[in-house]
Amino acid sequence: MKIAFHGAAQTVTGSKHLLTLKNGKKVLLDCGMFQGMGRDTDGLNRDFGFDAGEVDVMILSHAHIDHSGLIPKLVRDGFTGKIFCTPATKTLSSILLADSAEIQESDAKFSNKKRAVRQLPYIEPLYTLEDAERAIDLFAPVEYGVWQQVMDGVEVMFTDAGHIIGSACVHLRITENGKLTRISFSGDIGRYRDVILKSPEIFPQADYVIMESTYGNSLHDPGDSTPELLLKWINDVIHKKGKLILPAFSVGRTQEILFALNQLELENSLPDITYYVDSPLSIEATNVVKSYPAYFNRNIQNIMKTDSDPFSFRGLKYVKTVDESKQLNYQNGPMVIISASGMADAGRVKHHISNNIENSRNSIVFTGYCEPRSLGGRLLAGATEVGIYGLEHQVHAEIGSIRSMSAHGDFEDLSQWLASQDPRQVKKLFLVHGEPDVQAGFKKRLQRKGFDDILIPERHFETGLE
Ligand SMILES: [Zn+2]
Repeated sequence: MKIAFHGAAQTVTGSKHLLTLKNGKKVLLDCGMFQGMGRDTDGLNRDFGFDAGEVDVMILSHAHIDHSGLIPKLVRDGFTGKIFCTPATKTLSSILLADSAEIQESDAKFSNKKRAVRQLPYIEPLYTLEDAERAIDLFAPVEYGVWQQVMDGVEVMFTDAGHIIGSACVHLRITENGKLTRISFSGDIGRYRDVILKSPEIFPQADYVIMESTYGNSLHDPGDSTPELLLKWINDVIHKKGKLILPAFSVGRTQEILFALNQLELENSLPDITYYVDSPLSIEATNVVKSYPAYFNRNIQNIMKTDSDPFSFRGLKYVKTVDESKQLNYQNGPMVIISASGMADAGRVKHHISNNIENSRNSIVFTGYCEPRSLGGRLLAGATEVGIYGLEHQVHAEIGSIRSMSAHGDFEDLSQWLASQDPRQVKKLFLVHGEPDVQAGFKKRLQRKGFDDILIPERHFETGLE
């Protein structure tokens, strides 16, 4: 069989890896969207590098858009097979893909208005809400730890990846001409000792491992805890009477911030101001997360014995409508606004940033990884002027980041995940989902652990698996 890497190849978005069996059948691992890659993003998302109609089965590691966001396009372009994932991934995907479809449709509408003025031909949205709904109908949930046949000679099993609710590492047993090949695909690997989720699970020996490497060459700062860091920024904007804007992914990061603020309340140290969650998607995602308490770790299960809702506290307000969101512009601080997207390239947070970035009373604090070309990436790199919605803005607000909340494991976590593997039995290890310099460093570290054959594929690179 062969494997081709059509995304998250020497970059961190667009996860998409295609297995072609000897009998011609095709299995696609993830179908993620490229994000935050400037002008290249749209073109990358319009070109799969393979024929969607020829894919027989899809397997999805988790619901993040950079792993799932092009599934509706896959369906729009002719895919009709089943999409295997965990039950929570199906639930989360149904809201995330619908939201993404609405963004695609409104972006296309916005572009077409501009194109009409310049008499340019209309562009089609990447996909529509109808495509997203058709896609969700194809989702086939499988629980963790169960071997499921997905086609003749191909079985899949999921293990908990500890990255977001429902996230899985994907393990395949593929039999061709009587010979078994075992392939493990990490998806995104979470952290051991996460505050909400269980740790990544051990997994059976594989012949080939496809592994993420986002933080493969670094260690997370063990310094201050998230509640302490948040409290410092909150007290700072209280002093300045400003707004603390926290761009955060709707799924995972937002719940982690809410949990940290709830912890401050339990310790009686949460300042008495209003905390807005301004993202309809974040509200829905928080409800989905709350509906899978069995996936929580023991720490949070214990807290829930005395605090039934560990994501809710005094002063928390959810902002649903666009009008309510706009009203926040006219209110004086201090206040905290938690809003998506995490890299600030889209969503309501982009509006909040454009309205508040020129005022030094305000602080904009990123809570996760930002692609260097994204708005978040440019601000974190120290830009003094940024373009948002076609207008230049002077950067006077304080820019910061809280790195303690990464949903991705660091070098130690990734090594621990690999520890269940005998390096001598792993024929080849593919590093995906990472920046090239990080991957190069990670490769050297892994070689010292005995993994001799490590490859860092480029986009569309294809190779045979014995
Ligand atoms: Zn992810």
